[in-house]
Amino acid sequence: MVTQAPPITSSTTPPTDWDFDTSWFPSDIGEWEPSVELGTYLTEFDPSELESGDRVRLLQARARLASHVTASLLRDIAGVVDAYAVECRLEPTDEIVLDDAASELRAALHLTRRAADGWIHLALRLRNEFPDLLALLNSGDLDLPRVRAIDYAIFGLPDEYARNVVDAIIDDAPHLTTGQLGARIRKLIIDLEPEAAQDQYEAAVEHRSVVVYPGEANTAGVNARNLPPDRVAAISRRIDKIAKSLRTGGETRTMDQLRADVFMDLLAGTSHTTVGRGVVDIRVDLETLTGLAQRSGDLGGYGPVVADIARQTVEQNPDAEFRFMVTDRKTRQLVSHGTTRRRPTAEQRRLVEMFHLRCVFPGCRMPATQCDLDHRIEWLGNGPTTVDNLLPLCRHDHVIRHDAGWKHFIDDVGDYVWVSPLGVAYRQPPDDDQFPNAAAIDAVAPDVPAVDNGSDPMGTRAPP
Ligand SMILES: [Zn+2]
Repeated sequence: MVTQAPPITSSTTPPTDWDFDTSWFPSDIGEWEPSVELGTYLTEFDPSELESGDRVRLLQARARLASHVTASLLRDIAGVVDAYAVECRLEPTDEIVLDDAASELRAALHLTRRAADGWIHLALRLRNEFPDLLALLNSGDLDLPRVRAIDYAIFGLPDEYARNVVDAIIDDAPHLTTGQLGARIRKLIIDLEPEAAQDQYEAAVEHRSVVVYPGEANTAGVNARNLPPDRVAAISRRIDKIAKSLRTGGETRTMDQLRADVFMDLLAGTSHTTVGRGVVDIRVDLETLTGLAQRSGDLGGYGPVVADIARQTVEQNPDAEFRFMVTDRKTRQLVSHGTTRRRPTAEQRRLVEMFHLRCVFPGCRMPATQCDLDHRIEWLGNGPTTVDNLLPLCRHDHVIRHDAGWKHFIDDVGDYVWVSPLGVAYRQPPDDDQFPNAAAIDAVAPDVPAVDNGSDPMGTRAPP
């Protein structure tokens, strides 16, 4: 059974003559270059009279338009800074100019001082240093939250270094969520400049702190910041394990409530029975593990970590079970796999978790270890329970795939394509960061025992 995806066009030029027929709805309108004319044109349509798929396309067109207007707003903000520079006969980057412009913005747009400073910072940075990001906002290919996510992730980097990171991310950015952008950029920084990343990391950990703050409805919160991620992952695992062990027959608390109660118990000194350390989930290539390279690792449930943390995590967990797989980065074929201990019953799950780091729904970052395994071809439709027929989906996305009727398949170029119940197709390129470094292949291959892979368990990229 082959599922056909609707055609996906990459870019489209809207009509130049805007005085045209509005009795039909263009199927590619969600990709049109936004403009004032497009905004006027969109008001011609009554959403309640559109077919359901066209309502999504209208939404996409309007979202692009909102980004387009936001780009103009940022230029206007930079314009106010320029006006003050002229007024004060100073450079636009002068502190006095920036402060005066921020005061103007606070009064004009009812902003807090912090918000006004933030807008001005972004407006000037995009105009002066990253006009390519501003252009993507202007064309609607990026929205404000994602531009802010990029700006946040590169904050504090030396200029040239920040430029390299943006250059490396910019082509993929339109297809990534804020969470994916943050993780991708953290990994890039580690991989491009490992020593600088290590320095940055150590300097940040120096500023670790615990902050207590008032929460909603007279509650309170506690936030520990700038901690080593391996320690945080271990803490989180321990809280999870204790919380799960408390979930017995009569327990009425939810997992969220149990986790919060265990958190308070542990800090208040109430003891819980030791429940072990749990499975360590770290991905790191062999050269980095042995200290020959400084590439990033990936700590399950957290994301990219600097090489040193990846090595420490492995060293500090000598009793943990470690899984390995060797893939060819170019062909994405599995060369070999195995574990440091054998538990064959969980073998397929391990392989799927290692091949797909996260839930494969568009934009979802739930670690595969916390996901259900979904049959690409339904089990009831004679789909086999084999590794190439299984994909990780978080519980939420697993439920909507079956109950709401989302369909997914892998197309001939290896991208995942999801088709919504309204008939709209979303293309999701596989995340290259998911694949271990090719250099590890040569280092590992000679010592790896032969494994019966069956018929190409990972290589199948054709639609089911
Ligand atoms: Zn998901």
